[in-house]
Amino acid sequence: MIYLDHAAATPVAEKVLRAMEPYFARDFFNPSAAYLPAKKVAADYIEAKGVIAHAIGAKAADLVITAGATEANNLAFTAVGGKASKRALILYLETEHDSVRRVAEACGGLAIRVLPSGVIDLADLRAKLTDEVEMISVSLVNNELGVIQPLAEIAGIIREVKLDRLKRGVKTQLLLHSDASQALNLLDINVARLGVDLLTLNAAKVYGPKGVGALYVAHGVRLSPLTVGGGQEKGLRSGTENVPGVIGFAEAAKLAKEHLSGNRKKYTAWREILLKNLQGYELINKKHTLDNFIVVCYNGIDAERLVFLLEERGVYVATGAACAASKGVRSHVLAAIGLSETQIAGSLRLTLGETNNEEQILEAAKIINEAVEIERKRLEI
Ligand code: PLP
Repeated sequence: MIYLDHAAATPVAEKVLRAMEPYFARDFFNPSAAYLPAKKVAADYIEAKGVIAHAIGAKAADLVITAGATEANNLAFTAVGGKASKRALILYLETEHDSVRRVAEACGGLAIRVLPSGVIDLADLRAKLTDEVEMISVSLVNNELGVIQPLAEIAGIIREVKLDRLKRGVKTQLLLHSDASQALNLLDINVARLGVDLLTLNAAKVYGPKGVGALYVAHGVRLSPLTVGGGQEKGLRSGTENVPGVIGFAEAAKLAKEHLSGNRKKYTAWREILLKNLQGYELINKKHTLDNFIVVCYNGIDAERLVFLLEERGVYVATGAACAASKGVRSHVLAAIGLSETQIAGSLRLTLGETNNEEQILEAAKIINEAVEIERKRLEI
């Protein structure tokens, strides 16, 4: 098998598995219990939260642990009243993941356009940034293109606007949220440097367990819980803590940091090898992209058919976000960057990762070329 879909899921790293294992059966205690072994588990949980927080330049107390990035994204929007309120104006990037886009839409949000590169159109942001806007949500890395957004620059614009609001006596808050689900592996994230108030993390994309995520919340930002109960996570996410999940997430975050620069070099080299050896494609994500994301278009060919042909030959790829693909929905991201219907239908997303090696990359290129050739012959193009 050659797996080229690491943006959809990553296998849990061996070290992560080993770190989690004791917390399933031996150290199973409820962290809220009063006896000593439970207190030890509670201490380990807090320490693990500290490790995750440290990876983004924050502290354990700044994080709310959630059951994945979807929940963290949903929780972030409670800062402006969530679904119940339509008073606050929210801006979100039109290429956001559905877990941002659909909540923002439900709150009456306004989409900010992207340029054909997939990077935010800052002129459109400025034009839409009226006094009513309370929150802006822009992912650090897009999950279909791997495009990295200039968050620090956006934060700069926000600072300017806040200063201007202050001068004019406008009291509306203005928060910056970023979904960094895809970013921790290959970007050196620091919340202060990025200038974000809220940041979503996802263990499942960084060789950690699925169903574990976190929301970084800057001091002074007020959220409302999505669920109520035992009051865990300072009342923002009730429910017995997922101790093994958080221990695993911490180990994954540590590994991501340790291997950051080595991984970047490796993926850059593999990306180049792949692009040199693939034939007859148009590269879609040319600039400002994570090193492990390659989106190629075979105009006139049905990429869905390619996915099946490739699967038969042991190569696993995607046509877009896994959740959109499973529903047979056209990619809103590829449409947003201006691709035609046939270009969207002919696009493949290849995301490299730890399960790959150079030999596999060469082999994958050969198999993809063969599959494309079969399809071209069938269609006589
Ligand atoms: N945000 C982005 C950018 C993603 O890539 C994903 C996962 O596909 C999510 C959010 C949702 O993550 P989860 O399904 O783990 O909640």
